[in-house]
Parts: sequence; C-alpha cells; structure tokens
Amino acid sequence: LPRRMMLRTATISLLAALSSLLSVAAAAHAPRPPTPSRIKLTQNFREAAALSAKLADPATPQQRKKVAVIGGGLSGLACAKYLSDAGHTPLVLEARDVLGGKVSAWQDADGDMIETGLHIFFGAYPNMMNLFQELGIEDRLQWKAHRMTFAMPQLPGEFTSFDFPDGVPAPLNMAAAILGNTEMLSLLDKVRMVPGLLPMLLEGQPFIDAQDELSVKEFMDKYGMPETVNEEIFIAMAKALDFMDPDRMSMAVVLTAMNRFINEADGSQTAFLDGGQPERLCAPMVDHVLSRGGEVRLGAPLAAIEVGDDGQVACLRLADGSSVEADLYVSAVPVDVFKKLLPASWSTMPFFRQTEELIGIPVINVQLWFDKKLRSVDGLCFSRSPLLSVYADMSTCVEEYADADRSMLELVFAPATREVGADRNWIGASDAEVVAACLGELSRLFPGEIGGEGGAELLKHAVVRTPRSVYAATPGRNRYRPSQATPVPNFVLAGDWTSQKFLGSMEGAVLAGKLAAEVIADRAAGRAAATSQTLKPVHEEVVAAAEGAAPREPVGVRGRHPIAFGGGQQGLGETKFEHA
Ligand SMILES: Cc1cc2nc3c(=O)[nH]c(=O)nc-3n(C[C@H](O)[C@H](O)[C@H](O)COP(=O)(O)OP(=O)(O)OC[C@H]3O[C@@H](n4cnc5c(N)ncnc54)[C@H](O)[C@@H]3O)c2cc1C
Repeated sequence: LPRRMMLRTATISLLAALSSLLSVAAAAHAPRPPTPSRIKLTQNFREAAALSAKLADPATPQQRKKVAVIGGGLSGLACAKYLSDAGHTPLVLEARDVLGGKVSAWQDADGDMIETGLHIFFGAYPNMMNLFQELGIEDRLQWKAHRMTFAMPQLPGEFTSFDFPDGVPAPLNMAAAILGNTEMLSLLDKVRMVPGLLPMLLEGQPFIDAQDELSVKEFMDKYGMPETVNEEIFIAMAKALDFMDPDRMSMAVVLTAMNRFINEADGSQTAFLDGGQPERLCAPMVDHVLSRGGEVRLGAPLAAIEVGDDGQVACLRLADGSSVEADLYVSAVPVDVFKKLLPASWSTMPFFRQTEELIGIPVINVQLWFDKKLRSVDGLCFSRSPLLSVYADMSTCVEEYADADRSMLELVFAPATREVGADRNWIGASDAEVVAACLGELSRLFPGEIGGEGGAELLKHAVVRTPRSVYAATPGRNRYRPSQATPVPNFVLAGDWTSQKFLGSMEGAVLAGKLAAEVIADRAAGRAAATSQTLKPVHEEVVAAAEGAAPREPVGVRGRHPIAFGGGQQGLGETKFEHA
C-alpha cells in the first residue's frame, strides 16, 4: 500500500509539474497583439521620422564635433544616438554604474530584475516608436489588447474596462470605448464632460497649453464637470501621469494625454518591454553610438561645469578630478541635479534661473513576489486605491517573467509625500511599512486571495524610492521649462523636463534628447536653427527677479548613491528621507 501511495503521489507531482510547465509554455507562446498598425500613420510619427531622417541625412555638410553628454538616461542616450547619426562624436558621461537613470534596473541575488519603475509604452510615443524601429528592436515591445482596465473601489476584486474596438478610426474608437462602459460613468456624466473636452478637440494644442495655469479641479469647476469624473477617471490619470492628486496637478497634463489618445487610433494602446531597460533598450543605443566612434563611460559623475572668461563651458570636471574637453556640451541630468551644478556665473541669467521653478516629484516602486498565482489581468491596471497608482502582474504581462504558479506584482505607490497629497511621508517610511500598506490595499483588489488560509504568501519584496523623479507638473510650470538651445553657445540642455510637447515621460526624454542633437547638428552644419529650436523666451517675472541677483555658488552633487543623481534606490542608504 505505501508503495502504491508513493507511486500515486509521484504521478500526481509529475502531472502537476508537467501542467505547470505546459501553462508557462502556453503563457510564453500565447498569441499577443501585434505592433498596432496605425501608430506609424500618425502625423506625430511622421514628424518624428522626418527629424530622424534630417539628423541622419548623409548629404548634410558636417563638421564633426566632439560632444560631451552628461547623463546616460534615455534623454542623454537618445541625444548621443542621434548625434552619432548626424556624424558627430558623442562622449556620454554617466554617474552611475548602470545606464537608464529613471528606467534603470538591476538584478537581485536571485537574478530577479529590480526596476526603478513600472514603465509602460504607449502607441502615442512617436519618437520612442521611431527609435525602436531605427534600432531594429521593435519585437522587444510586448503589446497588449487595446483596453484600459480599472479596479472598482466599491466592488472588491471586480474590474471594469474601456475596450477600444478593432479597426474603428479615431476618435470614434474612444467614443465607443467610453460609451460601451456602463460601470464607471453614467450617461449624464459622460455628456457633462463634453463642454470641457470640446475646445480641446476644436482648438488643439493652443487650448491645452492655456490650461496649464489651472489645476484639474479648477478646470472641472470652470467647465462644470461632475465630481464623479474626477473620482472615476482624473484621480487615476493624475496618479499615473505625474504621481500626484489632481487638485495639485496642471490640467494641461491630463489634456495632453487625452488629446493624443483621442486623436490617435492606437495612441492609448500599451506595451511592456521584454526585460530590464538597461539591457533591452539602453544597450542597443550604446552599441549604435560605439559603432559610429562615440563613447559611453559609466561611473563618471560630473562634479562641476567650468566656465571660461567668455561665459562658455571651458571643460567638465569629473568627481575623480579629471577633466573633459569637447566642442559642445549637453546636460541630460534631471532638473534637481542641474540646479546643483549650475555655475555661479550663469546663476544670475534668467534662462537658467527659471529652473528654480521646477522640482522632481517623489514616487515609490514596489515589487511583490507571491508563492501563488493571483487572478491577474494581462495588462496595466489602474488600482484606484488611495495609496497606489497603476500596477501589473509581471508574471502574466511579460513573457520573460512568465510564471503560471506565482505572481509578481509591480506597483507604483503614489502620492508618496504630504506635499503631493499623501496622508504621510511614505518616502521616509521603512520597507516593512510600505509593503504592509501595499498588502492592505491589495486585500481589496484581490479579496481572499492574499494571506489567510490558503491565500498567497509574500515570498519577497523590493521597494525602490525615487524622492525626485519627473518634474512636478503643478499649474503654471510649462512656462519655466527651458528650450534645449540655451544662451550659452556651446551648451545645450536635454532631459524630460526641458520644453517639448510630450510630458515628463520616456517619450519626452527621447524627444528632448533628439531636439538637443538637432540644435547641435544645425549649428555644426551652419543651418539656421529650426523653429522648434529657437531660444524659448523667459517669463517676465523671472527676468525681473534676476535683475541685481547675486551669483550663487553651485552646491554640487553630494554622495554617490543613486538618488543623488535623480535615480531610485533600495533601502534608506545615506539619505535622510524625512527631509526629502
Ligand atoms: C516609478 C516611475 C514610473 C514611471 N513610469 C513611466 C511610464 O510608465 N511611462 C513613461 O513614459 N515614463 C515613466 N516614468 C518617467 C520616465 O522614467 C522618465 O520620464 C525618463 O526616464 C526620464 O529620462 P531622462 O533621461 O530625462 O532622465 P533620467 O532618467 O533621470 O536620466 C538622467 C541621467 O543623468 C545621470 N546623472 C545625474 N547626475 C549626474 C552627474 N552629476 N554626472 C553624470 N551623470 C549624472 C543619472 O544617473 C541618469 O542616468 C516613470 C518614472 C518613475 C520614477
């Protein structure tokens, strides 16, 4: 009898192992939507392609320039990539030992990927989509069905979605998605949204830009939008787009995203990258740069920008005491770092002083590994919970992390401090507190599935804090975002926070880097700067305040920890987060 039992147990375990293997294989090979066919048909995609073509035009008369690019995030790397295409020689100086900045990722002792943030790609990312195409890595994006999934706060464990019908052109597909969902907004609420959204549809970008002075709440009051729209949609959007509550956020952010999603048929369709960004997206850019004679240095933090008697950059001084000379210099560091490096002689210039008005927003990324598979959705979910923004079950969403037996949830925890709407300073809380708070919220999203008898147990976690992430898009910030061209002839700015028509996002970072490359390529070719590249005027208040201002010595970047460079890190490290 015991032998028979042993045999039975062995057979059962074998079958279980086989079935789990098969389901992993099935998950890995489940057909997923192809690259959306219409993303390459948009005006924005064509404009982005035209700029790439202009930069890579072999007919352009070139003076080969050596260009030092400070920062190896997406913006600095994109800048270097396009400078290489334009026949120049970039040298990227990245402070950390890992590329990517806010998209950086690293492996833990088990080989699991720890990410600075859950990053979602949208169809409405024309420069990013061109970049993937140019690098020949489009197959690395794993597209999801075209829908937006929201948790239902009043119905624990229930989800609802806006489903965009296939083959229907914009804006009808979004209209169908909104009208087709009867669980989130009543018909009357939908109708009452129209007066606010109509001017955006009719007037486009000028209307959107003008709304930067208003918070979401102020805009809603002005256009008589019902509070339910805020509760159902805008809170979730604000937390996802800029990690804060909508009463603090500029309406231009929401409208910019909505405008793209409404006007581009595949604009709101989402994709996940098939692994960590340093390897899957940054490395191909580095290879591209190296193959054209450029260089990328890791572990090379800039300590100071040395300015010559002519007011231009004389050289860059690195933290190890060495210096770097180039023909031109690009700063692609986050705005909070840039302010610390701003040379004293430039600190009175209105153009650079306006950066004082921009500041990075805190956010926390949490990864939770469970011993069981949770009921999961194949795509991004808006949690609509007080502490969390969006999340995804990566064991379902990304083929490389596929696991049929265990879930790995990646969650964006926002808002993270009181200033941006949180109930406490979560960025200074311990990992245990953050994880406990997440589990509390998840018990509502997955009722009965986590903890308790038979419920999934947490195997391990990773908490990555970024106290200064993308610039906080509070009302009125757009006017302080500087152009890539600066008043200093041999110095150009990049970074998602500089002026460009996409938000503080991966797309914005790539576009800003590309625009910075365009400034340099135009100057080197003796071309008059393109319209997009003229020096953006500085707001009169900043100009007035700069008069008679005393120069300020740069405080410099203190320490070598990731957050000193505007990145995210695990553990509290050397920093006092209470004051972050
Ligand atoms: C949690 C989280 C989730 C996000 N989710 C999304 C998303 O879903 N979709 C999306 O589009 N965007 C998302 N973003 C935003 C996106 O990551 C950023 O907009 C983008 O990566 C910024 O790129 P960047 O190159 O402008 O800046 P960074 O990535 O900050 O790059 C700046 C680089 O400069 C380096 N540096 C700093 N100081 C120095 C120095 N002194 N010397 C040399 N180098 C230096 C840094 O180390 C870094 O590598 C998210 C961000 C976070 C934090």
